[in-house]
Amino acid sequence: MEVDAHNIVPVWLASDKQEYAARTIRNKIHKFLPEFLTEFPPVTVHTHNSKLTMKSTNWIKAKESLEIDMTVSEVSWATPGTNAGLKVLDEFCTKRLKFFAAQRNDPNKDSLSNLSPWFHFGQIGVQRTILKVKSYSSKHSESVSAYIEEAVVRRELADNFCYYNPHYDSISGAAQWAQDTLKAHKKDKREYIYTQEQFESSSTHDPLWNAAQLQMVQEGKMHGFLRMYWAKKILEWTSSPEEGLRIAIYLNDKYEIDGRDPNGYVGCMWSICGIHDQGWAERSVFGKIRYMNYQGCKRKFDVGQFERKYNKKRKLDKEELPAAFKKFKKQK
Ligand SMILES: Cc1cc2nc3c(=O)[nH]c(=O)nc-3n(C[C@H](O)[C@H](O)[C@H](O)COP(=O)(O)OP(=O)(O)OC[C@H]3O[C@@H](n4cnc5c(N)ncnc54)[C@H](O)[C@@H]3O)c2cc1C
Repeated sequence: MEVDAHNIVPVWLASDKQEYAARTIRNKIHKFLPEFLTEFPPVTVHTHNSKLTMKSTNWIKAKESLEIDMTVSEVSWATPGTNAGLKVLDEFCTKRLKFFAAQRNDPNKDSLSNLSPWFHFGQIGVQRTILKVKSYSSKHSESVSAYIEEAVVRRELADNFCYYNPHYDSISGAAQWAQDTLKAHKKDKREYIYTQEQFESSSTHDPLWNAAQLQMVQEGKMHGFLRMYWAKKILEWTSSPEEGLRIAIYLNDKYEIDGRDPNGYVGCMWSICGIHDQGWAERSVFGKIRYMNYQGCKRKFDVGQFERKYNKKRKLDKEELPAAFKKFKKQK
């Protein structure tokens, strides 16, 4: 018996093929929700007594056996475990849900659920979360719908992609139009090219990009809106789309506490090679892949506020910043 406990609708049932976009899977998922979005049966004591057959665990030895990159610091804002996650869910429903529809794309506002780490590690089921969030439908209907769209439709679309596409983390997994357009613009002149180390140490000329990178490194979770801008700029400032995708996935999986997840691969693939997206007006480097820029971010939220918050935390000697920073300031 195979159970898909990661999704509400089992991934192979929602669709028997790789879907093109949210619009092609949305109805398929919603059709199955009455059958699968149900209350969990009560937890009862199992008839098999595990104490008779299981030895106790040596936790010290278990810890010693782990291979952990200690250069990535521990996240202080999130306590692991189901109880802590349920507390975050409760706070989201009572304090932040009402702002979710209107403010979720503003990185200065505290309106997201922040539940992705607990989802990623399987400590809270999205099903449990949706059942609770739905109970606020009469109060905050727009936000409840927006949350279901993200946590069910977008998330299950990401699983659909990784389940059916063996090249889920490579340019060869992209649609043909996207591969063609990226190839056609592979040799375009890049205004800036950074190494993995320069990206990793937040040393680009762009204070918003650096601030987003710092948020990820310092807190283990970058705001969802900025993740798109962050990955698209990596495409713009690397020597090839392959290199851009490699660096984006490397940084995402190293620093995001919710990294190494279907949502992460699809997020990077959406940003860099147009997965689940359409072609846009053709331009340098990006070809027909959707473009995002600093001015666009400025129209959406107070970019300066975000930059000040994260850039001020790091006491960087001005000389450490690349000369390009000065050029960028002049342009602004
Ligand atoms: C470049 C890039 C990298 C990303 N990397 C990851 C990653 O490593 N792990 C990860 O879980 N998500 C990733 N995402 C998707 C999204 O940004 C995060 O799920 C979200 O920011 C998590 O924060 P939250 O739980 O507060 O989200 P909320 O805004 O509260 O959303 C609720 C839930 O909906 C789901 N969701 C939200 N946005 C998306 C999306 N675009 N695609 C699929 N599901 C979504 C998540 O499960 C999330 O927990 C990435 C997106 C991009 C563009």
